[in-house]
Order: sequence, then structure tokens, then C-alpha cells
Amino acid sequence: MPIQILASDLADKIAAGEVIERPASVVKELVENSIDAGAKEIRVEIRGGGQRWMRVADDGAGIPASEVKTAFARHATSKIFSADDLFRIQTLGFRGEALPSIAAVARVTLITRARGEESGTQIKVDGGKFLDQRAAGAPAGTIVSVEDLFRHVPARLKFLKVPATEAGHSADLLAACALGFPHLRFSLVNDDRLVFQSPGTGNLIDAMVKVFGVEIASAMLQVQETNVIASEAKQSPYSNMEIASAQNPRLAMTTEIHVSGFVSPPHLTKATRKFIFLFVNQRWVQDRALAHAAVQAYHTALMVGRYPIVVLNINVPTDAVDVNVHPTKAQVRFRDPSAIFSAVQRAVRATITASAPIPAVNFPTRDFARPNAEDSQLAINLQRPHGVPSPASTVQSPDTYTPTHSHTDLPMLRVLGQIFSTYIIAEGPDGIYLVDQHAAHERVLYEQLRAERAGAQTLAPHASAGVAMQDLLDPAPIQLTPAQHAALDANKETLAAYGFRIEPFGNQTILLRAVPAALKKNEPRAALIEILDEMEQGEEPLEKSVDARLITSICKSIAVKGGMAMALEEMRELIRQLEQTASPRTCPHGRPTVIQLNVGMLEKEFGRK
Ligand code: ADP
Ligand code: MG
Repeated sequence: MPIQILASDLADKIAAGEVIERPASVVKELVENSIDAGAKEIRVEIRGGGQRWMRVADDGAGIPASEVKTAFARHATSKIFSADDLFRIQTLGFRGEALPSIAAVARVTLITRARGEESGTQIKVDGGKFLDQRAAGAPAGTIVSVEDLFRHVPARLKFLKVPATEAGHSADLLAACALGFPHLRFSLVNDDRLVFQSPGTGNLIDAMVKVFGVEIASAMLQVQETNVIASEAKQSPYSNMEIASAQNPRLAMTTEIHVSGFVSPPHLTKATRKFIFLFVNQRWVQDRALAHAAVQAYHTALMVGRYPIVVLNINVPTDAVDVNVHPTKAQVRFRDPSAIFSAVQRAVRATITASAPIPAVNFPTRDFARPNAEDSQLAINLQRPHGVPSPASTVQSPDTYTPTHSHTDLPMLRVLGQIFSTYIIAEGPDGIYLVDQHAAHERVLYEQLRAERAGAQTLAPHASAGVAMQDLLDPAPIQLTPAQHAALDANKETLAAYGFRIEPFGNQTILLRAVPAALKKNEPRAALIEILDEMEQGEEPLEKSVDARLITSICKSIAVKGGMAMALEEMRELIRQLEQTASPRTCPHGRPTVIQLNVGMLEKEFGRK
């Protein structure tokens, strides 16, 4: 084919693809416009996950009638004027791409009245084509409705998830807005139900109560505000840049970094990074390195796979950060990243050490923790899958072992004790075995639940024949975040099949009436919340079935955690159960459950051989 310039509607669709990935991207762009327009109250309504219909209404400045059409032109913006302005950006938008992009892939109706103008304007654009513009009565502010997103872009439509999941993304976005702009009032109405509303009091704690629930919000630690003056790192690989900075005082200047916000104490953690909210000059950014800096501040106080809850505002001079990195503006580039990361790390670390010293993990002062039934916080459920004989009958005396010719992958082990309240240490025929108690329990539960569920699906139509259920004596109400609610909606049937009986109880609250019996001794409310957090995090569409994902997250949430003391009897039972599983050497996520130090290696290390 000869080289030719793409038709403008095709070019627009391609460009739109970079900005608008899913309904929540539209919500993001529209809400950002409302914030930029100085709105105090922003109301978002969505139906069908936002794909079918959404409306964002604000009480901001509005658009003058004479400029409404221009707002839909590509690269039309009222927010920057010259290239220098790119380093002075105070607004969330500046690329002039959102309205034309949305209009290229959906049907848009915008009604607006600028403050000081008598009448308002209504404009309709569909798939990039102007349909109509007329005067219309309207309240001061702007209302944008978007219908049939991606109707003409089947490739994009195919990648959307079920409406509940898409709604969850919008809920996450509004949660972030509420945390980033506590003085504004955001609401989200999903399928005619008000699922989220921030108070707009200007107090970040009030916003956190709405987003995380009162329990978490009240446990959060306020970051001791830190002001750091960092002078530019002199490590530029380009020597001429240093010359430039020496000659040009503007480039040689220092960066003033201001960090504020809240972080969770080390014992309050989540199984996902999703509760780490970072704002750079009030812009919500998804920056792995920055999140890593915050997590690193907790040092060894966090267990593997656990993440803190963080709401951090990082303020830097506008010329110290480049926000023009990606069309979605969710990433930023810092002029001096290491200064920013270390400022974040110091601020977070100072906050958590001030609240309670971080426990240092020392090498064992006593070799093996003496197992003590009294201080055990956990009782492993001794139930077996249906039809599997209890191994208790075959348990041998704890003080002897005989090599076994078991067909399983794991020999018969003799439990010696527990170290760091996390690993079980055991002796086998050919060496020492260290068992990760959490991973091992995950494996046991995984096979148990799988067997129970398979029984339910193939043998009996009655639920009672499936996963064993346990009624809760006091079904306490649980307050969910909008995203957790969306995850619940999307996985209701599967959760029920695994033994969770959940009833609605008011707006964002549910009642947990029954849980899988395997969960009996754990804190059931916390386990459900964790499962929901895990579920909404699972993104890969083809990766695994809902069922397989749910079962791994259930196991992860209800398995005994590292850091819990276990009684000798519990450890023996866990090891016996692990030996009986089909794949005892890995947890359901594929990580090892067991590490082996064989005798030959010990003999070599000690110079016996
Ligand atoms: P950008 O936000 O990058 O400037 P957009 O395409 O999102 O680009 O919007 C184009 C222009 O339309 C904005 O610069 C602003 O002047 C105007 N505009 C869009 N939404 C609103 C709104 N809700 N209230 C007032 N003005 C708006
Ligand atoms: Mg914009």
C-alpha cells in the first residue's frame, strides 16, 4: 500500500484508544475536568458498568457558549498556552484530548452554562460527528452524558469485563478522588443505587472513613509532615548537563519536597497494593517505584505478600515533575527521583517507628520455639475432605520416625518445632525440612475445598453435600468499600458455592451468615474482606476461571498466617495433612511449601565428609 495520511476519524479512534481504555477512563477524564473547573460537588452515575450509560454532573465554571464546540476539537484546551506552561501545570488536564477522544468512541451529550451567562448550551457528538448544538436551560456547571461506549470499536468492547467489575474500576477512581480532594464532594450512583459518597469536609480522615471504613480509618497513623530540601543529584551521565546547570541557575536549583498523609501501622495490612494511594501535587499516580518506596519503609515488619494502606500527598514544585509522560496522565517523571523516593521513605518510616518500634527479626536466641498450646492463637481445622480417612489413625509416635515408602512427594516427617512463628522445622529420612506454615496450610485447604466442591458438582445436587458450611452465631454487619461491593456482586454465586452465605444489609453493608467450615476458627469477617480485595485485583481475563481464582484467594485468606505460634499438635496435624495432598511441595500459587537441607550437604558443610 502507498503511504497515505489516515482519515481523520480513524486517526481520532487510534488516538482515543490511548486515553480511553474502559468506562472508568471516561469517568476519570470527566471528573478531572470537573475538578479543574473548580467544582465543589461532582456526581457520577453509571449504568451497565458505565459502558451503556454514564453521566458526570458538576457545579463548576461551565463552558462559555462560544467555546463549547472548540472543546471537542483535538488538542483544544483552556489550561495551557505555551511550551513553558508544561512545567507549570496546576490542573489535572492539559492535553486537550479527553472530550474529542470520548466523542470519537461514544455518543456524548454535553450541557453547560458558564457562570455569568444567561442561558446554557447543549451539544451532541456521536462517533466523532457533530449532531447538534442549541441553547438550552441549564444550571451553572456542566453535565456530560456518554452512551454506548465502544459501540463502534468491537475490539475494545471485547476486552471489557462484566459490568460489576467495570463499575468497580469507577468506584476505585472515585475513592482516589475523595482521598486526593477531601474538600470536594463526590458521589457514585451505580444502577440507580448510591454506592459511594464522600463528605467533602476537607478533612482527609472523613474521606478515609468513607473509603476504608471507620475501623481502618481510625487506626491510620498521620504522617508527620516533612519538608525536605533536596539539592539536585550531581550524577548526570551527561557531563554537559552539569555544565548547563552550573551556567543556568534555574536547572541547578533545589527541590522542596513536602510529604503528608496517613499510613497504616505495620500490623494493619492488605493482601493487595490497591490500598496504596499516592498523589503527586494532588494528581493520583500509579507509580510502582514510588509505591515501593512507601512499602520499603516498613522494612521487615510486613510479611511477604502483604501491603500497607497508604494515602500520601507528595508536593513538589511543578517544574520538578513531568506529568506529560502518558496520555492517561497516571504516571509522572521526577527530575530527581531518588530525592523523592527517599523523602517518602523517611516520612513513612518516621511515622511508623514513632508509633511503635518495628520489631526486628533477630536470629534465633533459642533454636526452636518451645511449642506451647497455651499461646497458640490458632486451631487448624481437623476436618478431612469427604471420603478421605482421617490420618489421625495412622499418626505415629512423635518421637520416632521410620522412613516411608509413601507415594506422595513428601516423606513422613517428624515435627521438631517452629521458628520465627512462621516455619515448621521437621526431620525426614534424608535431612531437615523447613515448612512454610502458611503455604502448607494453603495447599491443604486448596485440595480440601476442591474435593468438597467437586463432590458438590458431580455427586449430589444438594448444597449440603458440597463445601461444608458453618453458621455464624452472631452475624455482624460488615461495611464494604464500593470496590469490594463490586467484587462481591461479580462473584456472588461462586462465593455461595464455597460456603459463604451473604445477605444485603443496607446500603454498603452486608451480613455474613455462614462461612466455609474450614474457616471456622479464623476471623471470618476479615477473611471475607481479604477475599474480596483479592478478587477485584485479579485482572488477567484468560488466566484462570473465576472458580480457580476464588479458591486460591479463599485459601490465601483463611490459611494460618506466618507469625502465628502453633502448638506442636497443630503442626503435626498440618504436616500429616500436607503429606496427604497431591502436590505437597507447592502452594496453590506455585511457591514452595518446603525447603530441604539434606544430610549430605550438612555433612559436607561440617567437614564430616
Ligand atoms: P483538557 O482537560 O486537557 O484541557 P479536555 O478535552 O478534557 O481537555 O477538555 C477541553 C476543554 O473543555 C477544557 O480545557 C475546558 O476548558 C473545557 N471543559 C471540559 N470539561 C469541562 C467542565 N466540566 N467544566 C468546565 N469546562 C470544561
Ligand atoms: Mg480534561
